[in-house]
Amino acid sequence: MTSLRPDPDKVAEARDIAENAREATRAAPSFAAELFLGHLAEELVCPFPEQPSADAAVAGPLLENLEAVLKAEIDPDAVERDDEIPAQAIERLKEAGAFRMKIPEAYGGLGFSQTNYGHAVALAASHCGAIAIWMSGHQSIGVSTPLKLFGTEAQKEAYLPRLASGDLSAFALTEPEAGSDPALMETRAEPHPDGGWVLNGQKLWCTNGPEADVLIVMARTPDKVIGGRPRKQISAFIVESAWEGFEAVHRCAFMGYGGIRSGLLRFRDMRIPEENLLWGEGKGLKLALVTLNTGRLTLPATNTAVAKQCVRIVRQWAREREQWGGPIGAQEAIAVQLGYIASHTFAMEAFSDYAAGLVDRGGTDFRIEAAMAKLFCSEVVFQIADRTMQIRAGRGYETSDSLRARGVRAWPVERIFREARLNKIVEGTSEIMRLFIAREALDPHLERLGALTQPESSLGAKAQALLRGAGHYPLWFLATLWPGIGAPDAVPAPLRGHWGWMRRQVKRLARRITYAMVRHRAELEHRQGWLGRMVDEAVDLTAMALAMARAGSRGDEGSTELADLFCRHARSRIRERHHTPTRLDRAGAEVASNLLKDRYLDLERGIVKENHWPGGANPGA
Ligand SMILES: Cc1cc2nc3c(=O)[nH]c(=O)nc-3n(C[C@H](O)[C@H](O)[C@H](O)COP(=O)(O)OP(=O)(O)OC[C@H]3O[C@@H](n4cnc5c(N)ncnc54)[C@H](O)[C@@H]3O)c2cc1C
Repeated sequence: MTSLRPDPDKVAEARDIAENAREATRAAPSFAAELFLGHLAEELVCPFPEQPSADAAVAGPLLENLEAVLKAEIDPDAVERDDEIPAQAIERLKEAGAFRMKIPEAYGGLGFSQTNYGHAVALAASHCGAIAIWMSGHQSIGVSTPLKLFGTEAQKEAYLPRLASGDLSAFALTEPEAGSDPALMETRAEPHPDGGWVLNGQKLWCTNGPEADVLIVMARTPDKVIGGRPRKQISAFIVESAWEGFEAVHRCAFMGYGGIRSGLLRFRDMRIPEENLLWGEGKGLKLALVTLNTGRLTLPATNTAVAKQCVRIVRQWAREREQWGGPIGAQEAIAVQLGYIASHTFAMEAFSDYAAGLVDRGGTDFRIEAAMAKLFCSEVVFQIADRTMQIRAGRGYETSDSLRARGVRAWPVERIFREARLNKIVEGTSEIMRLFIAREALDPHLERLGALTQPESSLGAKAQALLRGAGHYPLWFLATLWPGIGAPDAVPAPLRGHWGWMRRQVKRLARRITYAMVRHRAELEHRQGWLGRMVDEAVDLTAMALAMARAGSRGDEGSTELADLFCRHARSRIRERHHTPTRLDRAGAEVASNLLKDRYLDLERGIVKENHWPGGANPGA
């Protein structure tokens, strides 16, 4: 059995690689980054920065056309049943421009803003999740995004017009052994004596991969000696599937999203021309992470659209369905769920639009907000899908084909539920998002106190950190004790109490972070339970601010009611987290450790244990 203790060398290497790929520079302040410092940067959210109407108008014709194509060409149940999106439908979508939205106009694309792209892909997701995945695999993380950001003019000219005119693209980072930990990447590109590179390895679950014409492939290139030690290098390549050595080995099937093309890809002695190295040797992981920073914003948009479909379904069903003398929506147990669904959908939309707007306005470091929006919307949409299924009950669990066959309304709740689960896994799992946000949250404190937290720091470095801390923290601490007064004018009057409460919690959270850093020092990074709750609290606080600001911008009573209920839910969650003892994390970890040492095998008594789920030659894959 492999040891349960993480190998310190492997941990150090994984951290080293991730740290080197991290974007270390901060642009203008971001609301979320300031929040971790105990500062509520009201001016960054109030008044809510709505999409300019001129920008919205740019997407109008495409949205109209897209909706018409979706309705006319795509039966989402048939897509799932046949595990196939009809080729004609894909062609019509391409003609409508749905596959070239994010490509600049100079290269034949539509040059859409992030917000417009998000709204279009959300529209597709509200009808057929698989279509949205095709669209986003191609242009959200696919070749066009990293090419736009990091490509040379020659690379852009060679590929962007092809992608705009119909070639399909994909993003290949994950491997059988390298999921969340890119340090384990095994795909290699070695320099060829005649120039260029030779690629060998495999990539797993690459969306659009089996069909793609052009792919971004991350691969290890020869190590470099940095600071006297060899350091793993990861580089990014533009690869064409028509080149010799490419094989789509297996098309994977999933719990949901029938019709997508995602697979295990193999590269065998594939020659890559030198000019297809993107951005530079050793910059591939950073390129992938930067691409994902924007790329993961598709999910908040699509999740919001799915949540809206749920609102639509439960609104009608909870009114129509009568049990025990009246509509089920009048029963408090169901009413509570209806309130959750509506209020959280409102907050999701505010979060998604805000994060996309940050990208469009530029100049701000949007990494934390993007990760928060992804984490929040992925977690909430699953809650919403679950609650929608509970409200639809038996009919929620029944497939839409079966419902249709017996002549009743075929709301696809069962499919929505299955599909909603994926979001917590892809483009950064929820656990990895929490760690990512925590890392960014702690960064300003680490810059000041970092040496104090690292056991290997010299005494001199520790003394300097202590002085820096002593110069900053006493005054900062006093400032966080001042609760502040009032709320921005843009916040509707009934929500102002929430605003004041939120501001106090922001300061309290920042104090708790600093205290935890000083108390636990290097140990803090292992306290994932505490870190996760700290991040979830910050996410809820950010969502509260955005929901209130959005309600102010909408200016109608309905929006204020929804924001109010959302804030009540968020406050209750935050209070609950405050009461979760860290002892519970430690007790859980102890039982987990015993479980992995086979201490509780009795728990598995009374079940069929033959190996009726055989693995392949490589069960890990
Ligand atoms: C339908 C689908 C489409 C996909 N599309 C693409 C694509 O287009 N391109 C691509 O490159 N990849 C793609 N992926 C891969 C996806 O991004 C990975 O599944 C994801 O990165 C997680 O990797 P993993 O599944 O191997 O989980 P693992 O990394 O093995 O993680 C297993 C569990 O451990 C947790 N975990 C791991 N490390 C830590 C840690 N340090 N601390 C705490 N918890 C941790 C994870 O959160 C998870 O819960 C796709 C996957 C699916 C299912």
